[in-house]
Amino acid sequence: MPPRRINDNLDDSDSDISILGDVGEGVSKGKGKGKAIDRDQAAKAKSKAKEQPYAWEASYTRSWDTVQEDEAGSLQGAVEDLIARGRRRRLLAPAGAIRRTIIRHLVLILDLSASMMDRDMRPTRFDLMLQYAREFVTEWFDQNPLGQIGVVGMRSGVGERVGEMSGNPQDVLKVIHERHKLEPAGEPSLQNAVEMARSSMSHLPTHSSREIVVIFGSLTTCDPGNIHDTLDECVKDKIRISVVALAAEMKICRDLCDKTGGQFGVAMNEGHFKDLLFELIPPPAQRAVSRAAGAGATNLAADLMMMGFPTRLPNTSPPSLCVCHSELKSEGFLCPRCSAKVCDVPTDCDICGLMIVSSPHLARSYHHLFPVKPYKAVQSLADTPNPSSNCHGCSVSFNEVALPKAGSALEGMSPLGRYRCPDCHHDFCADCDVFVHDVVHCCPGCGK
Ligand SMILES: [Zn+2]
Ligand SMILES: [Zn+2]
Ligand SMILES: [Zn+2]
Ligand SMILES: [Zn+2]
Repeated sequence: MPPRRINDNLDDSDSDISILGDVGEGVSKGKGKGKAIDRDQAAKAKSKAKEQPYAWEASYTRSWDTVQEDEAGSLQGAVEDLIARGRRRRLLAPAGAIRRTIIRHLVLILDLSASMMDRDMRPTRFDLMLQYAREFVTEWFDQNPLGQIGVVGMRSGVGERVGEMSGNPQDVLKVIHERHKLEPAGEPSLQNAVEMARSSMSHLPTHSSREIVVIFGSLTTCDPGNIHDTLDECVKDKIRISVVALAAEMKICRDLCDKTGGQFGVAMNEGHFKDLLFELIPPPAQRAVSRAAGAGATNLAADLMMMGFPTRLPNTSPPSLCVCHSELKSEGFLCPRCSAKVCDVPTDCDICGLMIVSSPHLARSYHHLFPVKPYKAVQSLADTPNPSSNCHGCSVSFNEVALPKAGSALEGMSPLGRYRCPDCHHDFCADCDVFVHDVVHCCPGCGK
């Protein structure tokens, strides 16, 4: 297969994501609307095969094959294209103030049925899912340090609790790291798994979100009862379900997402799978409707919740027992209310139940509420009286003259390599632009 076609493939998957951001109508059209549960993949392939290469149609590709050198043998063009994709996606994000949940509870449901051994995604769906799930968990905790994740597996017709709800990324990573314990077998049961996830979140307080993310590779589900009853229960409990399907769209999956306000997507290839999964990382906007129903008149008023900032003990302090593991150690954190010693924050105090967080955790969750505005790509310096000659972030000098750009595909890129903050009007280079928006979450020019 010529490399060009692979590139097309990438571009297509990208445009599909932006469709997802809309009402989700475009995707359902492309995937064949209202597909019955027992239809097989052939039907889907027929509807779309002409214009869209699917993962199982492609010959074996390596990630480095998709990066193309330009005429001069440089990778600049390919790298800039990746940056441009990121910029484009950022511009799609809503700019207005929305209410977001910072204390999130998520149950990750992994399909461990026999269909996960399919090799349409390399090396297998199962291995790819585990790899992406690990990256997802790491990134999720980085952006939602006050959140908790539990893991449930679907295997042999039952839901299996793989990992308890935990706020510690290491605990969660450990359970999905043990590959031999997750070996796929039998049929999945969507209903059993969702019921198990629902029961593990039933005790949660109202200020936290309840979310379920399902990675679903099978085209069947083998349920003990009516799954629509489970769906109604989830709507009542305000659980948001999102599904990333690996094979084809199933009506019940689409219904689960639509009725609970989650996102649904079918992964076309490995890259698209990751994009779909990682779109679920930023905290979802809270729906005003659901709050009005629950809390009556106090719709947009804030709920106050109690949090404590612990005292950190240095590892030179005298050893004492922690309340979480009953282990003798020196370092730890003291609950500000009952002075119990815990090993890790954020957590709920095991003695008095106070939520213990460190201030950096709180600050890191905060940036989602006030995202840095996207920088504007400067097209020409004609209307700038005194353009600065250096990047305001890293002091690298800007090009004086506009570089002729090879591809017209680089929309959202500045020919001068300048990106301007709409508030403080400082110019930044492309690297700083990405760094500010993806890592710092605060404009160095205006401090916002
Ligand atoms: Zn402990
Ligand atoms: Zn306490
Ligand atoms: Zn810079
Ligand atoms: Zn600024």
